[in-house]
Formats: sequence, C-alpha cells, structure tokens
Amino acid sequence: MQTDLHQPMRRLVDRSLAGELSSSEHHSLRDHLHACAACQKYADDSRRVIAGLGGFSFPANADLQAKVFAALAQRAQQLEAAQPARRRIVHTCIAALLLTIVGSLAALHLGNPLAGLLHLEPAKTQTGVLALWVLPSLCFCLFLPALLLLPARSMNKKGSVL
Ligand SMILES: [Zn+2]
Repeated sequence: MQTDLHQPMRRLVDRSLAGELSSSEHHSLRDHLHACAACQKYADDSRRVIAGLGGFSFPANADLQAKVFAALAQRAQQLEAAQPARRRIVHTCIAALLLTIVGSLAALHLGNPLAGLLHLEPAKTQTGVLALWVLPSLCFCLFLPALLLLPARSMNKKGSVL
C-alpha cells in the first residue's frame, strides 16, 4: 500500500515543479511529503536539479540574447546612419549629372547667341563653357561616387563638407 502510493506522489512532485497541480493534489502531496521522508528527499532533489538547470542555462541564454540584441541594435544604428548618407550621395550625383546635361545643352545651343551677345568668338565661348562648366561637372559626376564611397567610415565629416 505504502510503496504503491510513492510513485503517484512522485509524479505529483514532478507535476508540481511544472506548476500543474490542482489545489487538492497540492494538499495531498504536502500531506504525503510531511509523512514520507523518501518522497520529501525526491522532491528536494528534484527542486535542486531544476534550480541547477535554471542556474546553468538561463544566464547563458540571457547573455547570448543580450549579445544578439546589442548586435542587432548596433546594426540598425549603422543602417540608419548610412541611409541618409547614401541618399545624399545619390542626390548629389543626380545634381552633378543634371549640371553636366544642362551645361552640354547650353554649350551646344546657347554658345553662339551668347558669343554674339558678349562679342566673343563662338568657338572660344563653347570652349569656355566646356572647360568651366561641362568638364568640371562631368568630373564631379564621375568621381564623386568614388570619393564619397571610399571613406565610408567617416561619412559624417565628408557629408558635411559636401
Ligand atoms: Zn512517499
């Protein structure tokens, strides 16, 4: 009779550690543990094992979780910081490209009337527009992405210069 009762009580101990006991099961387990040293020892040992497992695994998991969250937060900050800089690079390149196109069209279509207006030779005016407007903006357009992307680590300083 007594040996038959130990196994169900130890199952109740296991379920109590998982927090699955009804109040009547809890009362009968408590009564049995008061009377039975063997089951009391089983309950104590089980609690110690659970506590040991908790102490062993949860701080490691919390550590790993903290590292993962820190890495994710850092990556998010990097992406957030890089986003406006990349947009600025794209906008600056588009502006440089537009300047090149406008300069080329101006050199082609306004070179002669401008030369007449300023009493200059058309060829010299076109060369001047090419040298002072189209060529610099074309260089700007071509080399700007490389200049901006190379020092990607110190983007804020470069970005404020431009
Ligand atoms: Zn017992």
